Amino acid sequence: MVDRSALGQVEVICGPMFSGKTEELIKRLRRAQIARQRVVVFKPKIDDRYDENAVVSHSSMRIESIPVEGSADIDRWLKRADRAPSVVGIDEAQFFDVGIVDLVERLADRGVRVVVAGLDQDYLGRPFGVMPTFLCLAESVTKQLSVCMVCGAAASKSQRVHKDAHRTGKGGDDVILVGAGEAYEARCRRCYVLGTDVPST
Ligand code: ADP
Ligand code: MG
Ligand code: ZN
Repeated sequence: MVDRSALGQVEVICGPMFSGKTEELIKRLRRAQIARQRVVVFKPKIDDRYDENAVVSHSSMRIESIPVEGSADIDRWLKRADRAPSVVGIDEAQFFDVGIVDLVERLADRGVRVVVAGLDQDYLGRPFGVMPTFLCLAESVTKQLSVCMVCGAAASKSQRVHKDAHRTGKGGDDVILVGAGEAYEARCRRCYVLGTDVPST
């Protein structure tokens, strides 16, 4: 007998910072809610920007979410839930422990649609945490790009910059950086500088 129960799947939304990963995640999950599907969203506790109990995009779109310490927390939460969700969203997936991969795979095998958003590269341009694994396992992969803050081209990199830094000295080689604040900005591969001693634009 052919199993005709819901076919689960893993969808990945990746790209650099400010590329609209969270917006896209919220858009997909909202549509699922409109379709009256049971949606649950998780985010790592370390990401407490804006709101502890919501995933919020840089453009202020928001959706209620459950902050968790790691994959075991999600597992516990789902086991305790009265009714199993049919759609699970995970934001900032790059911050999760490796256990998240098995958990997401098991959910999809059981018929759950899992939408995973996260940075594909860290600020040094390296594949970030569990994201490369998700990119291989997913049924669907969406790579988003940002706008380069230097030249306006399509940006695939997250540049770490000194937010309150400004250049001092008389220019040339004696330029030094003042300021300790760290921030990130999107950059294309032409304008991206490997390393951290970069002033913001
Ligand atoms: P992500 O989750 O990928 O970091 P968000 O979904 O939170 O991105 O935010 C995307 C929004 O950020 C854009 O729609 C735009 O309003 C804003 N934004 C700010 N800086 C940039 C940039 N450099 N490139 C593109 N969008 C940007
Ligand atoms: Mg985001
Ligand atoms: Zn550029």
